[in-house]
Amino acid sequence: MADPKALYQEVILDHNKKPRNYGALEHWSHHAEGHNPLCGDHISVTLNLDGDRIDGIAFQGESCAICKASASMMTTTIKGGTRQDAETLIREFRDMATGKLDLAGQPHRLGRLTVFAGVRDLPTRVKCAILPWHTLHAAFNSVASTSTESEDDPMHAPIGDA
Ligand code: ZN
Repeated sequence: MADPKALYQEVILDHNKKPRNYGALEHWSHHAEGHNPLCGDHISVTLNLDGDRIDGIAFQGESCAICKASASMMTTTIKGGTRQDAETLIREFRDMATGKLDLAGQPHRLGRLTVFAGVRDLPTRVKCAILPWHTLHAAFNSVASTSTESEDDPMHAPIGDA
């Protein structure tokens, strides 16, 4: 077994150096901007739904390393899958990052995304890791702009005061 902390560092560094699906799609059906004022993260997500399938997704913006790595891994994980699969992962990722998901005891489909499990112990980084997923959720629901700090955001309540 690899040391989870070392693996986490390696993944974050790798995705920062070479972010996957970085940029904006020329043809897209859904788009949203996400802000995390606590850290200053700002990302933009564009995706194209072909029926129920995500046939393209891209992100760009100014963000810290954790947010960027999370966004990069999010795009590679959900690309080619269905919207339902992505919605499930959004919920599971959020629950993992906020410590509500017991990775060992509960079934989940997070796979390599579990490298982010450690952020639950870093309260100031939880929203950085969640922001891309939060923004994807907004895009699916045709919400043009979202913030981790807006009261009416559906993702706000579960994150609480982390
Ligand atoms: Zn951040």
